[in-house]
Amino acid sequence: MKSIVSILLLLLCQWGAQAQRVCGTDEYARHMPLQRGGESTEGILRDTATNENIIIPVVVHILYNTADQNISDAQVISQITALNNDYRLKNLDAASIPDVFKGLAADTRINFCLAKVDPNMRGTTGIIHKNTSRTYFLADDKMKFSASGGDDAWDRKKYLNIWVCRIFGRTLGYATPPGVAANVDGVVITTTSFGTIGNLNAPFNKGRTATHEIAHWLGIKHIWGDEDCGDDGIGDTPKQETYNYNCPVFPSVSSCSPNSNGDLFMNFMDLTDDACMKLFTHGQKKKMRGQFAINGPRNSFLNGFACDSSYAQGGPLPIDTVAKPAEIPADPISLFPNPVDNVLNIQCKSATALTGKTALLFTATGQLVRQQTLQSSSEKMLLGQLPAGLYVLQIGERAEKKIFKVIKN
Ligand SMILES: [Zn+2]
Repeated sequence: MKSIVSILLLLLCQWGAQAQRVCGTDEYARHMPLQRGGESTEGILRDTATNENIIIPVVVHILYNTADQNISDAQVISQITALNNDYRLKNLDAASIPDVFKGLAADTRINFCLAKVDPNMRGTTGIIHKNTSRTYFLADDKMKFSASGGDDAWDRKKYLNIWVCRIFGRTLGYATPPGVAANVDGVVITTTSFGTIGNLNAPFNKGRTATHEIAHWLGIKHIWGDEDCGDDGIGDTPKQETYNYNCPVFPSVSSCSPNSNGDLFMNFMDLTDDACMKLFTHGQKKKMRGQFAINGPRNSFLNGFACDSSYAQGGPLPIDTVAKPAEIPADPISLFPNPVDNVLNIQCKSATALTGKTALLFTATGQLVRQQTLQSSSEKMLLGQLPAGLYVLQIGERAEKKIFKVIKN
């Protein structure tokens, strides 16, 4: 247990000028014990193959009370990209992991995609925009139920549910550990810490809050084991006395460091700033992948198909229904045909509205596949070489930008 002095020091630190990461998962798990022990997920009686690429379909429930909380699909896609970079060790900042720790960094071979098939087998973007009368939520699961101003979970055997909403206070997010009731299973992230572009508050603007919380959802504890010199149950994470905030200078040695290399504060499961955290270890990888094994709580994801649009019966519901009134241009941009086989026409009644604007086409997982500068009010984009599926077209930048969904046949 922490001494009174250290608790007072902690409180003083929290009133300091620099923003510090607050993760609500440990607090949630201690105060919501009645949620535990829900139905078990159905297994599929197949183990994970060695280094099998595991794919987790994601549905993002955006709950907004004000227009700026209704974050763009591009912001959501930027979060999926960040997750895939971090879990696959493709994050560029991994290069700056201290040499003594580089060998610990693992590619978990866990991947994320926005769902392309909804629970009714209809096509979907995997993104739900829903207005709520609540001005904020607490870490008490109300955002997970339509009846309390939130949005009901999709089947947790097939989808990772992520709720994005304004969380009261300084908590950036929280997750349910494996084994909770089905209707609350998932991750909650505060609006301004979700994704890497858009409505974000530094220093939590690189998508690492979701990286961290999803690891809790996959059974990983904080690296200090939530106790003084605690045990996180992972063999290759060095013991550390407690959490780190902000970004320490390497080496950061504490009273229970096993050697002079000190804390692994650049691990995703410490409480450092987004720009400071860079890796999962091989031990954390093994523990997370174990959730997908036979009889594991996430085993059903090995059967997943929700990211394969060919399973969808019926197209997505009408597009662009979520555009905020302020974003609808005086001269609407029209895209046709949509769905498209090869040539996508981009037109605007205004002769100059499109000139000089950049058009970016992303896959549903956020990969940029086309980029062109528009020269006139009638342009063409060639999509013939692209695989069939859902794409996101962004025209213009920042406050001016417009987002469209494009379906490639
Ligand atoms: Zn945490």
